[in-house]
Amino acid sequence: MVTHQNRDAGPGTLAALYDDKRKQIGLGLYDPLSPIVVRVLHRGGPRAIDDALFAERVHEAAELREPLLRDGTDGYRVIYGEGDALPGLVVDRYGDTLVVKLYTAAWFARLGPVLDALVAQLSPRTIVLRLARVLQEHAPSPALTDGQTLFGPPPPDRVAFTENNLAFLADPLRGQKTGFFLDQRDNRRRVEQRAAGTRMLNVFSYSGGFSLYAARGGAREVTSLDLAKPALDDAERQFALNRPALGGAVHRTICADAFAGLRALAEQEPRYDLVVIDPPSFAKRREEKERALHSYARLCTLGLAVLAPGGQLVLASCSSRIDAPTFRATMLDAAAHAGRPLVVEEETGHAIDHPVGFADGAYLKCLFTRG
Ligand code: SAH
Repeated sequence: MVTHQNRDAGPGTLAALYDDKRKQIGLGLYDPLSPIVVRVLHRGGPRAIDDALFAERVHEAAELREPLLRDGTDGYRVIYGEGDALPGLVVDRYGDTLVVKLYTAAWFARLGPVLDALVAQLSPRTIVLRLARVLQEHAPSPALTDGQTLFGPPPPDRVAFTENNLAFLADPLRGQKTGFFLDQRDNRRRVEQRAAGTRMLNVFSYSGGFSLYAARGGAREVTSLDLAKPALDDAERQFALNRPALGGAVHRTICADAFAGLRALAEQEPRYDLVVIDPPSFAKRREEKERALHSYARLCTLGLAVLAPGGQLVLASCSSRIDAPTFRATMLDAAAHAGRPLVVEEETGHAIDHPVGFADGAYLKCLFTRG
């Protein structure tokens, strides 16, 4: 939406934004390499963009998450980009390790004050850097590389952290996302509360987050299904780590494609009482939306084929291009078509460490259904 620019500059240069009447409407960091030319830090007239501003934003973000620490959680998103008024910057905490992930080259020149504020606020042992793929490919920086340690000693292979008093391990350098799917914390907790006495199936399980919660919630048997063998190995490790808190639940893993795996399970008895389906994003671009909706509908149908009558089906979507009403309607239609109408008992989004300041930020949708 920027129609005119008075000069060119490098990434991270401070940019002032004016409306068509030459009134200043904001300030931000310039990124000539991105379709988002300015990452807005301030709306309105002049103000200082200095170290104090970055420190204040980090402080506010940390305060918002204080309740998590009291709940036995030291793995959470410390900074969620736009949601914490630091657009293009994500910081995740895994115990004493912080993972800084950048989505724009604009931050390369501005990282210093943010790191200082993070150290002052959270006293980490280690801070590592992850770069979004677009930066690795199109804006390589000689000074900052993916996986680099920015502060303290290099992290161990697996960093230990807790979530609602369950012990987890994350690999911040090689794991998916920054090592864990922190956004599903509250939904995992809901699954725990619904799991007593069930045979539970966790499809797209990654390292077994939902599985561990189901086991602690009293599930009799838990199965984690994922295509990634290393993630399933981590799930096994985490079960061993939490064993006393998990009661007697039996844990099985299936390394398979979810669609093929569900078809195979549909041929077997007994059915599952609780099925969680939490796939990766199917629609990162607008053009992929229709195909993504089709995939979600297929997963819903396949999920119903393995679900016991009256069982619970939990369906999640992290595709930002698909809004909550569309996701819900697609799933309910698919179920009705399969002759197994679903009743929605709860409809939720992400946890408090992913504050949403604008519509596109609300990417995670989760339906707790029965059918
Ligand atoms: N529910 C998880 C997060 C899931 S992320 C949690 O709470 O932590 C999506 C997962 O889907 C990843 O682990 C990825 O390895 C897996 N995956 C991607 N494509 C797949 C496929 N076709 N079949 C099975 N798993 C797949």
